This record gives sequence, structure tokens and C-alpha cells, in this order.
Amino acid sequence: MSALPPLDWPEFLPGWVWLVGAGPGDPGLLTLHALNALRQADVVVYDALVEPAILAWAPQAEHLYAGKRGGKPSPLQRDISLRLVELARQGKRVLRLKGGDPFVFGRGGEEGQTLVSHGIPIRIVPGISAGIGGLAYAGIPVTHRDVNQSVTFVTGHDQTGSAPSALDWGAIARASEVIVIYMGLKHAATIAAALLAAGRSASEPVAIVTDATTPRQAVIETTLAHLPEEAARVEPPAIICIGRNVLLRQALDWQGTTRDPAPLNLRDRSESA
Ligand code: SAH
Repeated sequence: MSALPPLDWPEFLPGWVWLVGAGPGDPGLLTLHALNALRQADVVVYDALVEPAILAWAPQAEHLYAGKRGGKPSPLQRDISLRLVELARQGKRVLRLKGGDPFVFGRGGEEGQTLVSHGIPIRIVPGISAGIGGLAYAGIPVTHRDVNQSVTFVTGHDQTGSAPSALDWGAIARASEVIVIYMGLKHAATIAAALLAAGRSASEPVAIVTDATTPRQAVIETTLAHLPEEAARVEPPAIICIGRNVLLRQALDWQGTTRDPAPLNLRDRSESA
């Protein structure tokens, strides 16, 4: 390889907390800033969704788990944030490593707020979010000119852990050609019913991508009508994608299971349930 241009690597100073996105799983999807952070950290505080292979990139650091283990409830968000404050005050370089992007349904914002309110300096390193990169690994473009000019990212859980009753599913159903749902397995039946009631077609294509970008990645292609039963068959983590962009998988499944060279009619919205 020829010489690469120099990169101004930021120095990880003691007493700082870096909130870093680990991407959806494949270590190759880490950013250069994430790699730089992993190489300098004294301690890595990581979540359940962080692939173990990624921790191996920080062999010098202490690895602290901050997620759910063995069916026990996860530590309170407040406890995690205060632990980060404590570690920073001990003069450590604290890498808070979160799955995907820290600011996408990952509570990175809340942790950042607590750190800032305690006077701890922070840096944010964005990551590839599962709802974009995970779909790409399944051969599904999150936007495509023939399909959608908007995409809506929603969470299937609210703060109480129940279906997001706060969301206006009718408005989402009408406004967004493509809907990408994080944490949607548990309430898939409620969500599918709400979208159908709001006029989405029962035959609308749906993909469920589990463990995206890891060696365990699996993809189920189904329809909105069958989403509840298919969702019940799989374990999290899963991204649910609802929309005609799912059909592009027939051509773009580059991991190579169901390639079909036949041209697609993506604009055909006339079919009914
Ligand atoms: N900050 C993360 C999302 C955290 S919420 C991000 O930007 O990707 C946790 C949810 O993300 C999971 O329940 C699942 O819906 C989704 N998710 C994260 N990693 C995933 C993966 N490898 N495969 C499928 N879904 C994933």
C-alpha cells in the first residue's frame, strides 16, 4: 500500500469520557476515530450489543460490562452514568462503547448530559447505526429513488418498555414510505395492526434482520400481515424494515443467498391486500 495521508489523531486525555459508537457488529465497521479510542483507552464500559470481537481491539484496557446479564435487570441508566463520572474523576481515559451510533436510541444523549453536568469533558464518536448499516448488510438500501424520499426510524419500546403509544402510527403510516423499527420484536403485533389500520397494505414487504453484520446474521423476508408471527420466531437484536425497498434485496443481497436478476417494478403501488 502506498503512503497514506496523515490523520490528526486526537489524543485521549486522562479524565475524559469518549462516547463511541461501535457500529452494528462487524469490527470492520468501526470508524477510525473509534479505533483510535480503543487503542488509547484505560477502561472500556460496554453494552450487551457490542460484539466481543471489538473489545479485543483494546487489549490494554479494563473491560467493564454495563448491560443485562443472566436475566437480571440492567443497571439503572443513572448508575451507569455516575460510574462513568467516577471513573473519569479517577483520572482514567474512559471509553463508553455503545452498539451502533451512541445518539440513535442508545441513551448516549442522556449519558452525555450527566457527564457534562458533572463537569466531565466528553467527545462523541458517531457510529454506523443498525437501521442503516444492518440493512445494507442484508442488501436493503434504506432509501432508493424509485421507492422513498423519506424514511422514519422508530423505537418499538418507550421508556416504560411498552409499545410506543406516544407515536402517531397513522401519521407515520401515511407520511413515510419506509419505516425502520428498532427494538420492535416484542410489540410487532401491535405495531403491524396499527399500520394496517392506518391503511398500509397487508402484502407490503417486510424484512427482519437479526444480528446484522455479525457471523450470525439472518434475514426473514415476509409481509406486514405475517410480521407478528415471524417476529415471534426470532430473538433480538433485530431491525424490522417495512417498505418496498425490501424488494431490492432480490438484486442487492450481496451476501448472495437470493439473487434474482429479473428487473423489479418498484413503482407499482396498485396492488391491494
Ligand atoms: N444505538 C444503536 C441502537 C440501540 S437500540 C444503533 O444505532 O444501532 C438496540 C436495538 O438496535 C436492538 O434492539 C435492535 O433493534 C437494533 N440493533 C442493534 N444492533 C443490531 C444488530 N447487529 N442487528 C440487528 N439489530 C440491531
